[in-house]
Amino acid sequence: MITYPLFINGELIETKEQNAILNPSTAEPFAQVSVAGEKEIENALGAARAAFDSGAWPKIPFSERKAFLLKIADGILEKAGELAQLETLNTGKPIKESTFMDIPSAAKAFQYIAENFEKFLVEDSPALEAQASAKLIREPFGVAALIVPWNYPLLIACWKLASSLAAGNCVVLKPSSLTPLSALELGKIIHTAGLPKGTVNIINGSGSKIGKALCSDKRVDIISFTGSNEVGKQIIEYASQNVKKLVMELGGKSANIICKDAPLDVAVNSSLCSIFLNQGQMCTGMSRILVESAIYDDFVSNFVEKTKRIKIGPGSEFETQIGPLVSRAQQRKVLGFVEDAKKQGGKVLCGGKIPQEANFKNGFFFEPTVIADLAPAAGILKEEIFGPVACISKFSSIEEAVTMANDSDFALAACIWAKDEAKAHTIAAKINAGTIWVNTYGMFYNELPYGGFKQSGFGKELGKEGFLEYARIKSVIMDHSPEGKPLVSYWYGF
Ligand code: NAD
Repeated sequence: MITYPLFINGELIETKEQNAILNPSTAEPFAQVSVAGEKEIENALGAARAAFDSGAWPKIPFSERKAFLLKIADGILEKAGELAQLETLNTGKPIKESTFMDIPSAAKAFQYIAENFEKFLVEDSPALEAQASAKLIREPFGVAALIVPWNYPLLIACWKLASSLAAGNCVVLKPSSLTPLSALELGKIIHTAGLPKGTVNIINGSGSKIGKALCSDKRVDIISFTGSNEVGKQIIEYASQNVKKLVMELGGKSANIICKDAPLDVAVNSSLCSIFLNQGQMCTGMSRILVESAIYDDFVSNFVEKTKRIKIGPGSEFETQIGPLVSRAQQRKVLGFVEDAKKQGGKVLCGGKIPQEANFKNGFFFEPTVIADLAPAAGILKEEIFGPVACISKFSSIEEAVTMANDSDFALAACIWAKDEAKAHTIAAKINAGTIWVNTYGMFYNELPYGGFKQSGFGKELGKEGFLEYARIKSVIMDHSPEGKPLVSYWYGF
């Protein structure tokens, strides 16, 4: 069985304690991974702190920093096939998704930041009163703790790593203990790229232990977290002890609004993608589909008929369209949501079960599911399911659609389907969400900031804004009067 070491202070570290990693398609172990204990957590934090305070990384010329970031991108691309297979084995996601989305996007995140960070760091200094001038300086925070979830393990780690490193921070990265393998493989790529020791440290283990230790430690200056609301709230509490800078990318309950003038076939096909991709385990999963009454019946019958045709299978097969969920716990959680929805009057139009065929019996599979006729207060319309479950509701006016879409504690993303682009823009202006896709879904651009409002968190990933989360701004003010500023110099009349 393959074993994965931790990456601390430039070295690959094997620990005595090891965790077995399961293949979600079979529930069988296929890898062993080192688990960080107190000593390794201490070493990782100490190494990152020392690398920032007295190491080379924060001070190296930008051209060298850029070259290192591009080397990491090249390393990812060189191992792209292997990384895609690993990501699929570990998460269960279809290999088509890992191959064409996760891995190339991870490399592109490094390339984009490498090409742009220098200009993002330049700040125009505003003109002040006569005799005074100021310089605005962008500088790294220091040590960044990067905590990532299991749904896009490598990609989200790379979003955070590329920006925090480009800004000059040194980091401790903590992947989810369910899916640590691609991040640890990235550790090897970083090792080969030759970044100064301690610049990047990657440790695996339980969130409650390692995550808490990182978020409460004084040596950490900034925490960038992507994960659930529940854990996000705990992290805010830990971070408050030392008043750390936070970037919080939390859950979602996104609405997909289908107007009557939408091109029906395209809207149906894309709506399938927006809820069933990655088995619905997407923070931006469009789990609430709102359809205008004039096309409701047509939309629903088309959507259900196509959902039934989606091919379930092991993640490793290229024909697979829906793989297993990440874990048994996730499978049970999704089933629980569906059972509750039924008790609350929801009508399951297809799916709703764990598939019973022999080849799916052991894995963490769940049928793609469509539920209708839910009352607006139903729990499944409020809480994040994080599984392949679409809930369809009807609206009869644009105002009603906007009210329904905004009726959520989350505000991460939304989709609008309408031929009339002006109407779509009017709706977009009224929707409470950080990202709105019109007549498309899931297009993440490195150029565009991404992040939610309300309980979906605060701070951004990607774009100039996402990068600047990791570069604090300092004002240096200077007075050029020969005797200093009279108001200050003569305040006491001496
Ligand atoms: P999670 O919150 O359970 O875990 C996320 C990370 O936090 C993991 O690395 C975990 O080990 C760690 N962790 C757990 N307990 C901790 C603690 N007490 N202190 C510090 N760290 C701790 O989330 P998950 O189940 O891995 O991922 C699914 C969630 O992530 C969903 O809610 C989803 O919406 C969210 N998500 C959000 C975005 C976004 O961009 N907004 C993107 C992807 C996923």
